[in-house]
Amino acid sequence: MPTLTCLGAAGTVTGSKHLLRYGDTQLLIDCGLFQGLKNLRELNWEPLPVEPHGIDAVVLTHGHLDHCGYLPRLARDGFAGRIHATAATRDVAALILRDSAFLQEKDADFANRHGFSKHHPALPLYDIDDAERTIRMFSPAPLHREVALPGGATLLLRRAGHILGAASAQIDAGGLRIVFSGDVGRYDDPVMLDPEPVPEADYVVIESTYGNRRHERTDPVEALAAVIERTVQRGGTVVVPAFAVGRVQTLIHSLWLLRRAGRLRNVPVYLDSPMATSASELLHAHPHEHRLPPQDYEAACGAVTCVREVEDSKALSASRFPKVIISASGMATGGRVLHHIAAFAPDHRNTLLFSGFQAAGTRGRKLLEGARETRIHGQWIPVNAEVAELPMLSAHADADELMRWLSGLQRPPKRVFIVHGEPEASEALRERIERDLGWPAAVPRQDQVFNL
Ligand SMILES: [Zn+2]
Repeated sequence: MPTLTCLGAAGTVTGSKHLLRYGDTQLLIDCGLFQGLKNLRELNWEPLPVEPHGIDAVVLTHGHLDHCGYLPRLARDGFAGRIHATAATRDVAALILRDSAFLQEKDADFANRHGFSKHHPALPLYDIDDAERTIRMFSPAPLHREVALPGGATLLLRRAGHILGAASAQIDAGGLRIVFSGDVGRYDDPVMLDPEPVPEADYVVIESTYGNRRHERTDPVEALAAVIERTVQRGGTVVVPAFAVGRVQTLIHSLWLLRRAGRLRNVPVYLDSPMATSASELLHAHPHEHRLPPQDYEAACGAVTCVREVEDSKALSASRFPKVIISASGMATGGRVLHHIAAFAPDHRNTLLFSGFQAAGTRGRKLLEGARETRIHGQWIPVNAEVAELPMLSAHADADELMRWLSGLQRPPKRVFIVHGEPEASEALRERIERDLGWPAAVPRQDQVFNL
C-alpha cells in the first residue's frame, strides 16, 4: 500500500518535502529549505527520517528555494537518483542553488571569522560543488507527456502558473493517482499563464499559502502606481523586497505599463539584484512558458536600470532622489535589500513595499506586523517609513483561486491533503473544501504517515 509523509511544509510555508513510498520505491516530491523561524531553520541541519541514498528519484515542482534548496544537501548526503522537472525549472533551480551555496559558504565563513558558531569550524549546509553536482542530476521532463519513474510509476507535469517552469505533478504509482499541486499561481496574471486543471486524481496534495485570504480585486498595476505616486510626492523612495524569480519580472512589467501610459515618467527604477537580472533573461530562453511577447519584454527590461556592482548598490542607498528600488530577498531575510532598508526605513517619506507572502519569523513579516525597529547587520534601525503590502501582486493563488483549481477535478478524490500554509490558512482551506465540495480533507503534521 503506498504511503505519503510530509517531511516539510506541514504547518508552515517552507521546507516542502513529500515522501511517496510504493513497493520498494521511495520518491521525494520537492526538496526545499526551511526558512523563517529559527526552530524551522534548525530543521535543515537535522537528518531526514529517510536515508538519502535510499531515495530513488526526486520530482521538483518549481525552482523556488523553499522547494529545491535542500537538494544539494541531499546529494551531499548520498542521494544519487534523478531529479525530474521541466527544463525551465532546471534553469531557475540552477540560478537559485548556485546563489544559495554561495550564501551558505559566506555565512559559515562569517561565523568562523567572528566566532559566532557553536561548531568549530562552522560548516556550510552545502557548497558550490554540491550545487553543481545537483544541477547535473536534473532530467528535464516535457509538460503533458508521461515520463517513467522508478518502480514502474509515471509522472505527468502540467502548468501551475506561479513562476517560470512551475508545474503540478501527477504521479501514477501502485495503482493510484496522486497529484501534487506545487505552488499554484494566479489566473489572468499579466506575465504567467493560467494554472492548468487536473481532471482526475485519487489523492490531491494542495498548497494553502493564502488558504484563508482573498486578494483584493482592484487592479494591481493601479495599486502599485498609487503607492509609488504618494511616496514620490513626499519626496521619498520606494524599496520593494522581491523574490528574484517571479515577482521581479511582474513588477518590471507593471512599471513599464505605467510608463507607457504616461505615469511615473520622472521616477527612475533600479533593479538591484544580479540574480533577478539573470532570471529575467530566462524569460527569453523559455518564450512558450509565459505570456510576454519578446518586444514587450525587452522594452520592459529597457525601462529599468540593472545594478550589478556592490559599489553601485551602495551608491543607490546613499542617494536621496525619489526612485523605486527593487531588490532581493523577497522576505528581507538577506541580500542587498537589507542595506536599502537600513538606509531608507528611518525616514517617514519613504515606503517599504512588500509584494509576496512573508513567512512567520522573517523580517518582512515583522515589519508588516508593525515592528518599529529592525536589526540589520548588528544595528537597530528605526522604522518610520510607510510599510505597505500588495498581496494581489503575489505569485500565489488566493483561497478562491485554489478552489477554482480544485474544481477542475471531474470526480471527488478519496482525500485532499493540505500543505504549505501556516496553520490558520491550511485549516481554513480544509474547512472550505469539506463544506463547499464535500471532499474529505486533512492537514498533515510533519512526519505523519498516511496509508493511501
Ligand atoms: Zn514558489
